[in-house]
Amino acid sequence: MILRDRFFIGGAWVAPSGKATIDVHDAGTGAVMGRVPLGDEKDVDRAVAAARDAFEAWSSTPSAERASYLEKISANLKARADEIARLIAQEVGMPIKLSARIQAGLPIANFANYAKLVKEFQFEQRVGNSLVVRDPVGVVGAITPWNYPLHQIALKVAPALAAGCTVVLKPSEVAPFNAFVLAEAIEAAGLPKGVFNLVTGTGAQAGEALVRHPGVDMISFTGSTRAGKRISELASQSIKRVALELGGKSASVILDDADLPAAVKSTVNGCYLNSGQTCTALTRMLVPQSKYDEAAKLAAEAAAGFTLGNPLDEKTRLGPLSSKAQLERVKSYIKKGVDEGAELIAGGAEPPAGPPAGGYYVRPTVFGKVKNSMTIAQEEIFGPVLAIIPYKDEEDAIRIANDSPYGLAGAVWSRDDARAQRVARRIRAGQVDVNGGAFNMNAPFGGFKQSGHGREAGVYGLEEFLEYKSLQLKG
Ligand code: NAD
Repeated sequence: MILRDRFFIGGAWVAPSGKATIDVHDAGTGAVMGRVPLGDEKDVDRAVAAARDAFEAWSSTPSAERASYLEKISANLKARADEIARLIAQEVGMPIKLSARIQAGLPIANFANYAKLVKEFQFEQRVGNSLVVRDPVGVVGAITPWNYPLHQIALKVAPALAAGCTVVLKPSEVAPFNAFVLAEAIEAAGLPKGVFNLVTGTGAQAGEALVRHPGVDMISFTGSTRAGKRISELASQSIKRVALELGGKSASVILDDADLPAAVKSTVNGCYLNSGQTCTALTRMLVPQSKYDEAAKLAAEAAAGFTLGNPLDEKTRLGPLSSKAQLERVKSYIKKGVDEGAELIAGGAEPPAGPPAGGYYVRPTVFGKVKNSMTIAQEEIFGPVLAIIPYKDEEDAIRIANDSPYGLAGAVWSRDDARAQRVARRIRAGQVDVNGGAFNMNAPFGGFKQSGHGREAGVYGLEEFLEYKSLQLKG
């Protein structure tokens, strides 16, 4: 059992104001793996006060010095990489080897990367008789989800600290333990007190208290579109800056001249990564009508290769979902797909045979002959559920890809690179992979439409936490 009973506020581990706690479940077994405190308005108040107190000194600390703290944090996380990978495999359900590479590896890389980026960043520019300077926004409230928990935290905390902001973090109550490891890595790095503060709790209580708080200058939020809307409403009362990284329903557009086996395999992998609990998951696979039968067969074969099992078992290719609520939600979407007339090609809502009882397992599922108007093609399912949508021609494919309330990501496949790029440019989404182009941690990450606004990662993510200020000079 992991028992965390303190918050990290003002550089110290302090007792919460109340006694209530939140159970955290192991996704692979369903058992309670530990507890964290249920923070309330008073805890948030203390954390914001600590962050406000620390702001002036931290924002005037030279950026090279801020960078050296980030390097230390990265090194401290690296020293605990195996522990982080294991923790998140249990909290979220991602298979251990992938968890080591992605869930532990990306935060380590991002803290080091922001150290480098802030050292190179030009904080001042002359424009005519003005000196335009970039000031940190102030106190940042960071609210994060459970699916890539420490990565999402790092994409906010690292650039915010690099920019000179101070931070209050409210991580997801479903996967909070990794945030405590980060707080310890920050403490061991000797960051000045109050620059980073951690409070756990629910969105409705601690989360909303942070959003409402007059001492918070900016909310950086990653999570569901539903919560993003609520946060926008609340934050509007104090006109604080809001950055939103929300959901997605991304299309993989396989053009008629594509390498079909490679494109289908890569799309299924992109859909099932982290059991489909990935905001950029390629959940809609658009195939030419003439290639539909072949694509459906290839997708079913690819799905069959996803061995379900406990995330800590090295043979597992598909782990469980992160929570019971998530399991019920995904199963109800699968039933809805069947009810609305999509063809079930693989998987289904019945419990799978094999993996340990109690865990939140769902079978890798493929639906064929999906119409884009169906619920399973419009709403984010957040499970291993692929929808194959046949299209008539290139124009039809682009229309379907863009016929979504979301615009987070996408993919395009063609043997003709220029054609693939042309189509990619017409997709209204924040990032589009062309012929399997690799993830780039320095490229801007974020959404169009109801996938949110603002950009994370690389220098774009640093700029999110800066204000412009112009000094009009006399000569
Ligand atoms: P969620 O919205 O339920 O919760 C996210 C965080 O917000 C949690 O810390 C939660 O406690 C808090 N929260 C919830 N309601 C709140 C409120 N009213 N006020 C303040 N805080 C509140 O989302 P989740 O289930 O944890 O995560 C899954 C969602 O996140 C999916 O929709 C997914 O697409 C999205 N996501 C997006 C990205 C991206 O970068 N675009 C990345 C990862 C996940």
